[in-house]
Amino acid sequence: MNDSSEQTLDDANMTSFDHIIINANLATFSKQYGFNSYNDSQEKSTPYGQLENAGICIKDGKIIWIGTHEQIKPHLSRYQNDQMTDAGGNWITPGLIDCHTHLVYGGNRSNEFEARLQGASYQDIAAQGGGIVSTVSATRAANQEALFTQSEKRLLALIKEGVTSIEIKSGYGLDLDTERKMLKVARALGDKHNIHVSTTYLAAHALPPEYKDCPDDYIEQVCQWLPILHSEGLVDAVDGFCENIAFTPEQIKRVFDVARSLDLPVKLHSEQLSNIGASALVAKYQGLSSDHLEHLTEDDIKKMAASNTVAVLLPGAFYTLRDTKLPPIEALRKHQVPIAISTDCNPGTSPLTSLLLAMNMGCTLFYLTPEEVLSGATVHAAQALGLAKKGRIEVGCDADLALWDIARPADLAYQMGLNTIQGIMIEGQWRETV
Ligand SMILES: [Zn+2]
Repeated sequence: MNDSSEQTLDDANMTSFDHIIINANLATFSKQYGFNSYNDSQEKSTPYGQLENAGICIKDGKIIWIGTHEQIKPHLSRYQNDQMTDAGGNWITPGLIDCHTHLVYGGNRSNEFEARLQGASYQDIAAQGGGIVSTVSATRAANQEALFTQSEKRLLALIKEGVTSIEIKSGYGLDLDTERKMLKVARALGDKHNIHVSTTYLAAHALPPEYKDCPDDYIEQVCQWLPILHSEGLVDAVDGFCENIAFTPEQIKRVFDVARSLDLPVKLHSEQLSNIGASALVAKYQGLSSDHLEHLTEDDIKKMAASNTVAVLLPGAFYTLRDTKLPPIEALRKHQVPIAISTDCNPGTSPLTSLLLAMNMGCTLFYLTPEEVLSGATVHAAQALGLAKKGRIEVGCDADLALWDIARPADLAYQMGLNTIQGIMIEGQWRETV
């Protein structure tokens, strides 16, 4: 137990809490309770940083006190029923965090999915205006309201599985007005549903048709739009697609230099199809995360470890593309690079709106452990978004919590399609509907 948990409840002024939770098992993912991502310590680590038969006291949306149920019990009479939650011995995790999504987009690509399964090639589909170009056209054509309504359904699917923070990228506009529209929709989704949305500017996602054969001219536009959208309060981070079918490290570097001048953190779609030095570039800019990583080398991993860059793995895209090249999990573990897991929710390569299923895929496809995928959807996902007060159950952190009807934390990675959520708390407030 840490110092703050040993504090007596009298000291903590027992009558001043907004809410207390009793009779809970906690998967804290906090080092204070023995969580250790790498199991390298000489000290004994506690899986999931778990605390059984625990209580949590909350005030002003923050966790103020954590201790045993027995410590809280004598004080319960001071609280009204609506200020208390009896977890009934169920498990509480930090609210889940989906740290890499493209969930705001127009249209969808099920027609292409079907055509490919009927024998059409990628070239056939591209020749008919399919692929990312079709999503760009549909996103440009949709008004803000229509884009909001369509994207909200995907967000709600994630929230219903305990997601309380999410990253949403632009990148299907590829012009100033549509990039702005996407980022505004992302902000509006967070406001309406009271969940934390981190917005990411991803105009360097693909080359729009009007800049065909002129990628440097397009990158110049991307660099010019960034300060404008940032000044409108729409950008929390900057991303790009650094790949032989997208942009070169030199082109991405130009965007990153603008991001740095605005004090914005960077991240990158890296080493999904090849290795052209993307993760090395992110590490050079002390990026928050490098994402995909199937073709990552040990040399890149050492650089990521040195810059404290999170490795975000996206098994939904691996699955959809029937990829066979695994990301270098053992080397990531060896060099103690934090691993996050995300849906990569997007209409082309990962039409996935279940973070729980992404966690299961992380175990089955990537051989990660249930503790690794769950830390990848909580504490490490928070790090990938630069959210210092989320992703852990710890005194001083935001009271973003998910209550589950499960026997043990591994159930969350083990079950496929069974949603065991019982309650979702965001900054100290239970959501009315789960
Ligand atoms: Zn992506």
